[in-house]
This record gives sequence, structure tokens and C-alpha cells, in this order.
Amino acid sequence: MRRFGLVGKSLQHSQSQSHFTDKFRREGIADASYALFELLDIDQWNEWISAEEKNPSGPLCGLNITIPYKQSIIQHLSGLTEEALSIGAVNAIRPDGQQGWVGHNTDALGFAQSIRPFLTSKHERALILGNGGAAAAVRFALQNLGLDVAHVTRTPHEGWNTVRYEELSMEAVRFYGLIVQATPVGTYPNLTDVLPFPWEGLTPDHLVIDLIYNPAETAFLGMARAHGATVLNGKDMLQAQAEAAWKWWNTKT
Ligand code: NAP
Repeated sequence: MRRFGLVGKSLQHSQSQSHFTDKFRREGIADASYALFELLDIDQWNEWISAEEKNPSGPLCGLNITIPYKQSIIQHLSGLTEEALSIGAVNAIRPDGQQGWVGHNTDALGFAQSIRPFLTSKHERALILGNGGAAAAVRFALQNLGLDVAHVTRTPHEGWNTVRYEELSMEAVRFYGLIVQATPVGTYPNLTDVLPFPWEGLTPDHLVIDLIYNPAETAFLGMARAHGATVLNGKDMLQAQAEAAWKWWNTKT
């Protein structure tokens, strides 16, 4: 059995296992399994991966990496693909011969694929809430699509155009036609959590995306929809990044 899986700190919100289990069943892939692996701290990586590599139930052939380890995993990898290097965050890794594990990023591709059908000339500027691994992938994807990008963050990020949440004005929101919520705030089970945001700045021309897919509509998306914006959750991105990871895991090096 070829083993795949997801590594993160707390995975109760994740739909990755059901995504891959359904895919394996649908496509008649009988020699693969997908499991969830919760790691309390990334410092446990070396010990954990050594034990898993010796697991007699089958070789570990690919892993997804999720919150909060998309950046901190990099120190444990033997190499990065060009995309992962440019983004500075990794959401998929695969064995690198005897050398260790190599990191890749399929979040950027997944995000770009999921939003392309919704982008119009009203969306030339984007405001990304957050500066973590997913925010970095979204930034990379949007810049490649030719959009101007700024971030709203709790702490400034060197080299990035950032404002703090308390500084974000209604006028600034009007200026940015695309808003991307790239923090975990509002993820199941914290359904009522919502970032502070000047909702009055939203118009029917706005496209508001929340990368969260559980719940299907976060409090943030609900507020955006109530203020007239077109809204999109992270489900299409989840599926597109998972498919891209599957292809990469199964590509011969
Ligand atoms: P991450 O690397 O841990 O980054 C988390 C980001 O959220 C950081 O910028 C952090 O800011 C910010 N943040 C956390 N709590 C906050 C709060 N209470 N107020 C304001 N900002 C807060 O996580 P990630 O990998 O980027 O993931 C972010 C979200 O995207 C998660 O919900 C994840 O599930 C989702 N995601 C979805 C997909 C998909 O396929 N749909 C793909 C990737 C990620 P500080 O630095 O100030 O702490």
C-alpha cells in the first residue's frame, strides 16, 4: 500500500482525507491510502518521519503540510521546487531518494485555478488578510495574474505592502476590488469568530474569497455577502491544490 497523508497541528477541520478517499474509490486506485497525522510541534518532525519511514504497512509516498507548518517545515527538507522557493511556503512534500524530502507548493496553482472564472476587470487590485503560508501563495498567484497586492496583518512583513487591521479604512476597501481572507479566523468550530473589517466599503463589484471551506460560509463571507459582494469559499481551491499535489507525487523525478 502506498501511503499518503496530511501533517498539521490540529486537523479536525480538514476534508483532505475524505477528498482523497473518495478520489481513490472513484478512480479505482486500490493501492493508495490517505491518513491524517497531527504533530504537536514541528520539532518532533525528525523523530516522527523516521518512525513513519520504517512503518511496515507501506512506503510513505507523499504528504500534504498544513497550518501552522507550511513555513517551519522548510528547515527539515532537503530541497524545494522553484514555486516553493519563490513563495517561501510548502504544502506538499515527497521523498527525495535517500536524501530526505523535497517541498513543493500547489496552493498558488490551486488558488489561481479556483478564482480565474470569477475575475473581471473590476479586480485589478487585491487585499489579502494575513501573512502566513497561504497568504504567501495567494500573493504569488495574484502577482502572476498581474494584480497589485497589499496585505492586512497584525504584524508588518518586511518587503510587503502591509497595513494593520485597525488602520484599514472603508476607502481602502473600495480601492481593492478583490479581498482574500487568508487567516484561520472563523474555522470550525469557532464559527462566530470574524476579523475586524470596514464592511461598508464593500460594493456589488467586490469579489470576496475566504480560503476556509469548513464551514462552507464563514461569518466573514456571510458579512461580505450581506454587504452585496460576490463571495467564494476555499472548496474549489482545496480540490485544485489536492489534484496538483497528487499529480506531483506521481510524477517520476
Ligand atoms: P499560517 O501559515 O499559520 O498563517 C496564519 C495567518 O493567519 C497568519 O498571517 C496569522 O497572523 C493570521 N492569524 C491567525 N490568527 C489570527 C487572528 N486571530 N487575527 C488576525 N490574524 C490571525 O496558516 P496558513 O497555512 O496560511 O492558513 C491560513 C488559512 O487558510 C487556514 O484557515 C487554512 O485552512 C486556509 N487554507 C485553505 C486552503 C484551501 O485549499 N482552501 C489552502 C491553504 C490554506 P500572525 O502572523 O499575526 O499570527
